[in-house]
Order: sequence, then C-alpha cells, then structure tokens
Amino acid sequence: MTKPSMKSLYWRISAVFLLVLILLGVAFNYLSLFSAEMYFQEGNQRLHREFAYFVADMLRPSVGDTLKRVEIMHVFEDVHRMNPSVEVYLLDEQGKILLSSARPGDLKLTHIDVKPIHAFLATGGKEFTMGEDPTGTHKEKVFTTAPLSVSGRGVGYVYVILGGEEYDSALEFIQQNYILRLGVRTLLISLIGAAIIGLVILGFLTRRLREMTGTAIAFGAGDLSRRVTVVRDDEIGKTAAAFNSMADTIQQHLDQLSSMDTLRRELIANVSHDLRTPLSALQGYVETVLLKNDILTAAEREVYLQTILESTTRLNKLVEELFELSKLDARQTLPRSEPFSITELLHDIVQKVRPLAERKSVSLEIGFEKDLPFVHADIGMIERVLQNLIENGIKFTAEGGKMNLSVERHHQKVMVRVADSGVGIPTEDLPHIFDRFFRVSNSRSQPNGAGLGLAIVKKILELHGEQIAVESHVNKGSEFSFSLPLHHA
Ligand code: ADP
Repeated sequence: MTKPSMKSLYWRISAVFLLVLILLGVAFNYLSLFSAEMYFQEGNQRLHREFAYFVADMLRPSVGDTLKRVEIMHVFEDVHRMNPSVEVYLLDEQGKILLSSARPGDLKLTHIDVKPIHAFLATGGKEFTMGEDPTGTHKEKVFTTAPLSVSGRGVGYVYVILGGEEYDSALEFIQQNYILRLGVRTLLISLIGAAIIGLVILGFLTRRLREMTGTAIAFGAGDLSRRVTVVRDDEIGKTAAAFNSMADTIQQHLDQLSSMDTLRRELIANVSHDLRTPLSALQGYVETVLLKNDILTAAEREVYLQTILESTTRLNKLVEELFELSKLDARQTLPRSEPFSITELLHDIVQKVRPLAERKSVSLEIGFEKDLPFVHADIGMIERVLQNLIENGIKFTAEGGKMNLSVERHHQKVMVRVADSGVGIPTEDLPHIFDRFFRVSNSRSQPNGAGLGLAIVKKILELHGEQIAVESHVNKGSEFSFSLPLHHA
C-alpha cells in the first residue's frame, strides 16, 4: 500500500475532520459545563428558598420605626457565621440598599433591580431567577429574598446573594467536580476513538485513490497492461472504470498504430519485391536484344520483345492497382453513387471479357430476375469490382469450366453472385483472400497477379457500406457474392 504524502488529500481531509472533532469537543464541554453550573445554581436557589424568610424573622425585632443598625449588623454577622458563602442585604421597597453584610468598600451598587425580586416572590421561589449582585461586576447571581414588614407596614426586602463556592475558571470547576471530570474524560476518550476510527476509514477510502494514481503513473511510464480494480460502483469506482476504458482506448489505438506500421513495412517489402521481378526480367531481355541484335533471327526477336511487353504490362498493372488502392485508402476517390441497371452493366462486362473466356473455353452463364430495379452505386467502381471478380474466375478455372453470374433481389438490396467451377481456395486461406498482396500459396494459381485485385474489390464495397462474402471448395469452385442498395425513386 502506498503511503500518503503530507500534501495529500488524506491529510487534508484528516485535518479538517480532526478540527471538526475538536470543535465539537470544545462546544460539548462548554455546553455541559454551562448546564451543570446552571443546574447547580438552580439547586442552590431551591435549597435556600426559605432562608431569607428565616433571616427576616431574625431581623424583625431590630426593625421598628427606625433601623437598629448595630443589632442588624449583629444579625448579619450571625447569618454570615452560619453560612459564610452568602451576603445579606436589607433593601427598601424601591431596592435601595439600606444595610449589607458586605464590607462597604466592596459595594459597587446602591440600588438593586426589584424586578427579579418580584418575580421570585410571585413564583414562591420555584422558578430559577437571577438577580443583581452588588459586589460583583455586572454579574448576575442566584439569590433568595423575603419581604420584610413590621406590624403590617412594609419595610422592604431581605435580599440574600447565594454565592456558593466561586470558581475562577471552568477548568477549576471541572477539577472540583468528579462527575463532570468523568464526563469530560469519557468524551475525550470517545473523541480520540472516533478520530482513530475516522482516520483508518479515511485511509481505506483514499487508498483506492492512491492505487489509481499509482496505476496511472505506471501506465504513463509504459506499462500499458495496468488497470485499476473496480471494487465498488461509487464515485471512485466510476473514476476507476473511466480510467480503465481510457486506457483500453489508448492501448487499442497504439495496437492499431503498430499493426498499421507492420502493414506499411510489409507493403513496401511486397511492392519492392513485385517491382523487382518484372524489372530485372525487362532489363535482362533488353540487354540480350541489344547484345545479340546482329545474330538474332526475326522470330527470336519477336519472342524477346513479346516477353518485354508482358513484363511492362505486368508492371503497369501493378503500379496502377497500387495507385488505385492508395487513392481508395486515402479516400481521395469516393463513390459517386447514381442509379443504374446492374444487369446492363453485367452484360457490358461480359461482352468485354468474352474473348478472354473463349480463349480458355470457359463458358459464361448469366441469370437474372426479371424487372430488377436500378441500384444506387458508383457505376465505375462497381464495374471494377465485377471485372476483377470475373477475370479471377476465368483465370482460376481450368479449360472447359464454366462461370455463372447472377443477380437477384434480396429485401431492399440486390445480391450479385460471381461463381466459377475453378480450382477453389483452401479453407485456411479464405480469411486472407482479401488481404493485399495475398496469393494462395498452392500456386497452381496463375502468375500474373500481385494479389491486389480482391483488396481493391473489398475496399470499394466498404466505401459503399456493403460487404463481400466468399464460399469456396478446392477443385470444385468458388462463389463471391456481394449486395448493393436499390435505388429509391
Ligand atoms: P491477383 O491479382 O493475384 O489475382 P487477387 O487479390 O485478385 O489477386 O486474388 C488473390 C488470390 O486469391 C489469388 O492469387 C488467388 O490465389 C485467389 N483467388 C482469387 N479469386 C479466385 C478464384 N475465383 N478462384 C480461386 N482462387 C482465387
């Protein structure tokens, strides 16, 4: 497994993930601290609900027409001794502080807001209420309060701030609270656990990405067989599948290129070979004629010149066929389709090749369906196709054999068949018969051919969007068949 580098997506996602976890932890802690403190204070307030009434009872004797300050202060001291965490205040009905247990220097307020006092008294202290703390800086605290009246005349309120223990910081608060401490520890452990599990899962997820990168690098370095294993059909799986199909296409194209390259090399080898033979024959005969010009009889000269003519014809044919094929390959000549009668075309060609057939005593039979519609194709190219096929048929048929040419309608097309009773083609050669420069090795076949005729036939039909088929049995004969589209008026 490849290791993630520090700049990797893995680390970036991990960092974000950890940050979220930490923020979550902090928020959760803050929330639990806050609620614990509130809960604690609420409990404190409930617990001391009656406390102010108790102080009021203690104060009543010292509150007459005038306040007996010294006695009141004594009561305050007693209360403070009983519960050192509280501060007691005597307020008038408007909230003005008349007397307090706090040291005068600590007092920062002269008045207390009476609204919380009223609210507390209205609910009997059952609802959590916070009030102003005269010694604190703008801080509200829990309190308990009781109205103070003497002989039915309201004096004011006893106002007790329930200090409880003061904590300087949340940390100190946690340290002092076992349960909270336990809670925070559990939270920390869960967060660490979640972080570890999260990082491992993330590692697994990004491992597939890293594998893909590794494969892409290997592929780029030339190992074209490398593919990514598609595990699941998720986003990463889809990217992997896309990479694989891209790699397939690239490999296909490279294969095609290399096979084209091989083909080109073979072609050049074949062409030079096929040119060399007639050329050296030509050279030889011309040299002979020149050297022996004086001693040659007219008949001998005739033979030599005849051979020279044959060689030039062969060369000419070869060059012409090569040129034609290269133009077809480069799509320089494209079919210019037009409607024409295929039967008339066949008749014309038969007229042309009849002398050749008669020379070999090969009989030509033609069979047509009546009233065949016109076909839609390039007449010149189809003439070339038929001529090549028929000439081959005559060439590879022994004397006295026969050829059969037929056209029949087949759905929206016509089928053209060129059959002969000739030497046939061995089954193993059939798949290569349309390859350029291919000649059946068992060469009872004629010399005169370069093996380009059928390649041209196939190419022309391909350009028409049609295909050619062949059926052949050695010593029985061959049948070539192809279809052509009908003309729709
Ligand atoms: P060529 O110009 O040499 O005839 P083709 O491409 O026309 O080249 O044919 C390729 C080879 O296919 C021929 O050399 C021959 O061996 C074989 N072939 C073609 N047509 C026939 C046929 N009608 N009967 C037997 N063999 C054939």
